[in-house]
Amino acid sequence: MKNIRFVLVGTTHPGNIGAAARAMKTMGLSNLHLVQPKHYPSAEATARASGADDVLASAQVHDSLAEAIADCQHVYGMSARLRHLPVPVVNPREAITHIQQLPDTSEIAIVFGREHSGLSNEELDRCQYLINIPANPDYSSLNLAAAVQVLAYEIKMSFDPSITVGRIGEDREAIDAGDLEHLYSHFEQTLTTIGFLDPENPRNLMRRLRRLYNRADLDRNELQILHGILRAAETGGQDK
Ligand code: SAH
Repeated sequence: MKNIRFVLVGTTHPGNIGAAARAMKTMGLSNLHLVQPKHYPSAEATARASGADDVLASAQVHDSLAEAIADCQHVYGMSARLRHLPVPVVNPREAITHIQQLPDTSEIAIVFGREHSGLSNEELDRCQYLINIPANPDYSSLNLAAAVQVLAYEIKMSFDPSITVGRIGEDREAIDAGDLEHLYSHFEQTLTTIGFLDPENPRNLMRRLRRLYNRADLDRNELQILHGILRAAETGGQDK
């Protein structure tokens, strides 16, 4: 992921540069290049980066796109409008699948255009691929930092999709088939004791209970609760 640089060309609003830095940092990316930003450095960029100022501080500023991508083997241009250019157009996921197949030593640039006018034809000519975020055809232009976020997220999802906060229920202790059998015999015994199950005429009660609890994906804690309820039912609530 370190070899993937995001290049913002001719950004007008410094706030968008800060928001782009934040979007990148949240997804573990930090390689930011700026080509002729209109106002930079800027307090507004730093404010909008809100904590991603390290990404801003290490951003390299260039006089031209040519300079920003000079050492890159693969250059992808982000375009909201699909011009009739002889350049292959892919969606972000397709682009990243392609990037993942490149050697680790490849330097890759993803180039974003100006807020009002996007990338010029001359700049697009320097791109081997165009990436289009498939958006609403009647309203397809994302805010610059939002487009950066979409790409950064797709990169993160392809390279490292692991969730960093604990998943709810992750500490559930699994039970096995033997535990379930023990539960079912406890059910059978208790339901007989309390007169709910007639051993002379059991019908399909135990089979239905099995179906119910087999579906339930019980964990050990839940299993213990059920055993506790059965014990309490058997003793008329004396043994909680
Ligand atoms: N009005 C400009 C778009 C400006 S949005 C135009 O029509 O070209 C600023 C930049 O965000 C674009 O240059 C492009 O790099 C990126 N972007 C916005 N929406 C996008 C989309 N749907 N697909 C790909 N890139 C997009």
